[in-house]
Amino acid sequence: MTQETSHDAGPLVLLGPPGAGKGTQAKRIMARFQIPQVSTGDLLRENVARGTELGLAAKSVMARGELVSDDLVCTMVQQRLMQPDCRRGYVLDGFPRTAAQAGWLDALLEHELFDNSRPTRAWPIVISLDVDYNQLLLRITGRRSCPTCGRIYNVHFQPPRVDELCDLAHATRLVTRNDDRLEVIQPRLTAYQEQTRPVADYYAHTGRLVSVNGDLPVDDVSDQIYRVLDDHHA
Ligand code: AMP
Repeated sequence: MTQETSHDAGPLVLLGPPGAGKGTQAKRIMARFQIPQVSTGDLLRENVARGTELGLAAKSVMARGELVSDDLVCTMVQQRLMQPDCRRGYVLDGFPRTAAQAGWLDALLEHELFDNSRPTRAWPIVISLDVDYNQLLLRITGRRSCPTCGRIYNVHFQPPRVDELCDLAHATRLVTRNDDRLEVIQPRLTAYQEQTRPVADYYAHTGRLVSVNGDLPVDDVSDQIYRVLDDHHA
């Protein structure tokens, strides 16, 4: 489970509705394959916290549970993927989330496929985490995270040892994300159904989508993902 793998993971896309476990699994893949997690939600939240121009533009959109504009998100992703730590591969978590973003990513990667200086030259493996609707609600409403180390807990399924305190980061008090409030969950799930589900359909049509049962316990979901990645590189 914790064993590292030597092959390059290349680009990997984790798809799934809010609460499917993308962030949790992305962190595990990051540790196993030594490639960074590129979470557009985390990058946007960092921008909001720092009060950047992007953060100011994104803040109210995110608070309503809607999607930030494709232009802003794609520019942010492009800048992130140009960082040296993405050269061996990366896990995209929360991107692409619209058909336009998927098309943009394909165009970017197609360009890289012909660029010999880029070592990750490959189409992404796209893994969809499929989760039952009621499970999603429990996962979203129970989600807590540590503002210091980023570790994610769930008060129903993976509670911290001491209520509301991080096990690792010197007992930092856990926080609930602003958009995990009940009134914002429905718009986020609607945005997923209307704007992100077509992305899964798009990858399915191009034969690149692999579905994984995201209802299983977290270790079992990771094992399924590792098998997909190992088979792909075998
Ligand atoms: P997440 O942490 O992935 O659930 O994202 C939190 C919020 O950030 C979403 O509800 C959107 O408002 C925004 N967001 C994250 N990723 C994207 C994206 N790829 N496109 C547009 N908005 C995004």
